[in-house]
Amino acid sequence: MAAEKDQRKVRREESERPPSAIPVSDIKETTTADVVVVGAGLAGACAAVSAAESGAKTIVLEKGLTTMAHGNYNGVFGSRLQKELGIEVDRAHLLTDLMRWRSFTADQRLVALWFDEGGQVMDWLLDLTEAAGISVIVESYPWTGEWTDHYSAGHKFEGGNAAVLSMLESKALELGAEINYQTPAVRLLRKQDGRVTGVVAETPEGDYKQFNAKAVVLCTGGYGSNREMMEKYSPWALSAVTSYYYPQLNTGDGHKMGLWIGAAMDELPHCSMVFDGRIPDSLVYYTIARQAWLNVNIRGERYGNEMTPASVMARVDMLQPGHVKWSVWDGKWEEEVAIFGDPMGQLMPPAPEYRETLEKGVGEGHIIEASTIEELAQRMEVPQETFLATVARYNELASMGEDLDFGKPASRLTTVEKPPFYAAKTGGAFYVTLGGLKVTPKLQVLDTDTNVIPGLYAAGNVSGGFFASLYAITVPGISHGRALTFGRLAGLNAAAETT
Ligand SMILES: Cc1cc2nc3c(=O)[nH]c(=O)nc-3n(C[C@H](O)[C@H](O)[C@H](O)COP(=O)(O)OP(=O)(O)OC[C@H]3O[C@@H](n4cnc5c(N)ncnc54)[C@H](O)[C@@H]3O)c2cc1C
Repeated sequence: MAAEKDQRKVRREESERPPSAIPVSDIKETTTADVVVVGAGLAGACAAVSAAESGAKTIVLEKGLTTMAHGNYNGVFGSRLQKELGIEVDRAHLLTDLMRWRSFTADQRLVALWFDEGGQVMDWLLDLTEAAGISVIVESYPWTGEWTDHYSAGHKFEGGNAAVLSMLESKALELGAEINYQTPAVRLLRKQDGRVTGVVAETPEGDYKQFNAKAVVLCTGGYGSNREMMEKYSPWALSAVTSYYYPQLNTGDGHKMGLWIGAAMDELPHCSMVFDGRIPDSLVYYTIARQAWLNVNIRGERYGNEMTPASVMARVDMLQPGHVKWSVWDGKWEEEVAIFGDPMGQLMPPAPEYRETLEKGVGEGHIIEASTIEELAQRMEVPQETFLATVARYNELASMGEDLDFGKPASRLTTVEKPPFYAAKTGGAFYVTLGGLKVTPKLQVLDTDTNVIPGLYAAGNVSGGFFASLYAITVPGISHGRALTFGRLAGLNAAAETT
């Protein structure tokens, strides 16, 4: 045990050596709060409003110019809206399903916490959004999955999560919280192996300011924009990182600050949110290449069942040579997409919008249009003989109505025979990292000896334990679901420490 502990310490010294302390003389100002929340994304905003609601003097430090918001879906169960719609789910079945997606390597207590508390937290959010006149629906209801179970979890607010964040920002201010933008936290302050007592942040003027606190809640998001951390913690996702999707300010600051004071990190490699269908250098990706067309690698070979959920497909594609694939379809696409529907979270828009995107993709050179299969192969620069054999075999399977090679359902087994022929080269699209500092079900950060670091909480993508292995799109919006549920709970728990 002692030897193991020493080894851990050595590993840490090599890779996460704390920077030197900021000299006291460089600290231009010191202020005091009950709770300091670091980061104003969904987790941080929920933590801040919750702490301020509890009567704690709350200060928020945010690196960017504004709050951070993405996307639309917020996945939880048991909200009053879901109850009104009659949406019920078998708890044991869902938890086992989610743990299966995680290869049973996540902390099931955290998954259960999200399930058990998410509905109540959503009700709290619904009170706030209703008061602000923001309407909400539960998307994907009813939604029947063919590859996997799908659950009607995604609460979608009018104006997306940007509207929610803006409302939460106003609410935090109304409750007396102080929000400091362009003020990144740079160090956590911890008494020798004891409590965390605050943070030091950089002000917009370039000075250092100390924020003393009875509790600190880290909500700094992921580390997708920190290449070194990606290489170390989520290397499998690197090929999917392009400039389009991931938030630039997510540089793993909270992870690092935690590690520097002795926090424990999730096991490697971390789970990240990556979907399939990215067309390099283009935003024309969702509607075309994410369908269950024939997929081949750059050698012209088919390599699996194309009808798998977006996050799974991405992992499969990224294992191919060059981490890319060709998605191949033909002139019957309009009839086929009508049958495909949305079985895998593949977001199929109505045909007119699809046509517009297709034409744009062809016009910009991101999609190849050819009048023969041979011409298509030539322009794809795949070995022609192999590709023609692949298409012939695929057409044979489609005519038989049975995918004897990889088990794709017959309803998605469409031939490639009617000109014009299309192909798009795509890869994974990286969004956010999902691994982080180990936390207890109270969202308290653990050290490498699995002891709680007093006074330190973490929520959202800086925290760990909840995701592992594959991102389960089976529950739409589960990463926001975690961020808002754990953000609120961390804010409440931190505030409770201060009274
Ligand atoms: C394009 C896109 C669409 C998405 N759509 C969905 C969706 O529909 N459903 C879903 O569930 N998930 C979605 N996600 C993922 C989801 O948005 C994230 O998992 C979620 O935002 C995490 O929330 P968070 O509060 O932990 O982190 P973030 O939202 O990343 O917020 C972290 C905040 O901390 C700040 N920060 C960083 N470092 C510091 C520092 N040193 N000091 C102070 N502040 C700091 C950042 O500037 C940021 O404001 C999407 C992601 C992207 C990129």
